[in-house]
Amino acid sequence: MSVSEKEVTQAETGARTAPIDREKLVRDMAAIVGTEGVLHKTYDLKLYEYDGSVDKHLPEVVVFPRTAEQVARIVKYCNREQLYYTARGAGTGLSGGSIPLRGGILVAFTRMNKILEIDAENLRAVVEPGLVNLHLSQAVAPYGLYFVPDPSSQKACTIGGNVAENSGGPHTLVYGVTTNHVTGLEVVTPDGEIRHYGGKATDAPGYDMVGLFVGSEGTLGLVTKVIVKLTPLPPAVKTFLAIFDSVEKCSNAVSGIIRNGVIPAALEMMDNLMIGAVEASSHAGYPLDAAAVLLVECEGLPDALEQQAETIEDICRREGATEFRIAKDAAEREALWKGRKGAFGAVGRMSPDYYVVDGVVPRSKLPQVLAAVGDISKKYNLPIANVFHAGDGNLHPLVMFDGNKPGDLQKAVKAGEDIIRMCAEEGGTLSGEHGIGVEKRDMMCFIFNEDDLGIMRRVRQAFDTKGLCNPEKVIPTPGRCGETRIATARKAQETYEREDMQAW
Ligand SMILES: Cc1cc2nc3c(=O)[nH]c(=O)nc-3n(C[C@H](O)[C@H](O)[C@H](O)COP(=O)(O)OP(=O)(O)OC[C@H]3O[C@@H](n4cnc5c(N)ncnc54)[C@H](O)[C@@H]3O)c2cc1C
Repeated sequence: MSVSEKEVTQAETGARTAPIDREKLVRDMAAIVGTEGVLHKTYDLKLYEYDGSVDKHLPEVVVFPRTAEQVARIVKYCNREQLYYTARGAGTGLSGGSIPLRGGILVAFTRMNKILEIDAENLRAVVEPGLVNLHLSQAVAPYGLYFVPDPSSQKACTIGGNVAENSGGPHTLVYGVTTNHVTGLEVVTPDGEIRHYGGKATDAPGYDMVGLFVGSEGTLGLVTKVIVKLTPLPPAVKTFLAIFDSVEKCSNAVSGIIRNGVIPAALEMMDNLMIGAVEASSHAGYPLDAAAVLLVECEGLPDALEQQAETIEDICRREGATEFRIAKDAAEREALWKGRKGAFGAVGRMSPDYYVVDGVVPRSKLPQVLAAVGDISKKYNLPIANVFHAGDGNLHPLVMFDGNKPGDLQKAVKAGEDIIRMCAEEGGTLSGEHGIGVEKRDMMCFIFNEDDLGIMRRVRQAFDTKGLCNPEKVIPTPGRCGETRIATARKAQETYEREDMQAW
């Protein structure tokens, strides 16, 4: 028998085939987490059937554990009863990771949100996974410290979600993404045992289990505790806005800055459509007539910053910047960042729906790739606004559509797929930070062959022998890569349409 024949496919999991007795399930869950820790009415469940992506599916129940022991009991119960289970943080994910695609139990971590320890001397904190990202930086600020990963969703998303997605943010260009800021994990593995990987020290011996779990999108187990690295707040910060009359000149400036060995703390780019959306909602002072802007932030000692600022201004002007502004005070800086971090939401004012695409290309390819994104917009007749972590070559085209128009969702998804395929063809990759989830599961074959995927399936199987943990995510069913994404989107649209009809 060949390796791929032996592999357990997701269709052949150990899940039950008999119908679920929902009343019993609710009673059993209440016995573990208390009645106040279980949601089961359809009205409530509907709030947990989606995340920030375009797919959705109802769970049988949502449970809110408060301890690792409760999580372990839930997982053991799922094994006994052959039930699927999926972890959920704040549900801000953009690749469908927390959607319970096969129903079962949704384990929501929002009540496990405590900071258990701040060890300022050793630059570490021990936190529960449901802690909101921003709350950690706020809590350690009095010690002169912060948690570097700052997704634009940081006011809502959880550290557990960040760990699962290996999240990045505008300020991860220099210091690295979540995996560079997690040194230890407590995890309930799919056998229902509580295990510990890493610790406060870096570089644990043996295989890098922490590295394996960070970015595994909730498919290898449920994280119940996280040991994070804290970083001293920078002594000084300078924020600039470089304004360009062409996207190409702006992209060239990005390459120029990095090529010169100046790595700013953040290097973000927005095109004209996005600037319009951001300015309408934030009034931060972004120039409406610019073709593109670069938001640049440098951190460090004041003298070094002056020099960096001069170098960056020189490069931007050489590449054709029409204007180079320096934020004059903290309020101006905050306004610029508020605008940038609210960019996705701002697009919601311009279009009934939007689909956020997340792909990566080598920085040198930015000009041609952005031109091609414009062509894709024309091909599908859907406006696409661009905002992205330019320093990392991490694109976020936002495809605008109207979910109420038949076929619009599929067009948006297809446009996203064209963009991702192009990123892969240009030597980039499928995701910079939003993960694979279900959204890009069937695009994995753009960059991996069946042998590569087979190894990933076997890693997953080493943990999840029964195939119950967050099914249908990340790894495609053998031989079906590239086929099913549109079908999933169609199913989602049909559901919207059916529900609309019912509502009327
Ligand atoms: C407006 C907006 C802006 C965003 N900006 C960024 C950005 O700049 N950078 C970025 O990287 N992302 C960004 N995102 C995406 C998203 O916020 C991140 O992926 C975030 O880390 C998800 O956290 P969450 O708590 O919402 O997780 P969820 O969406 O609830 O879950 C995400 C994944 O984590 C798993 N998971 C959650 N908790 C656990 C746990 N305890 N154990 C195991 N698995 C778990 C889930 O199963 C799922 O696979 C943005 C999203 C939005 C809506």
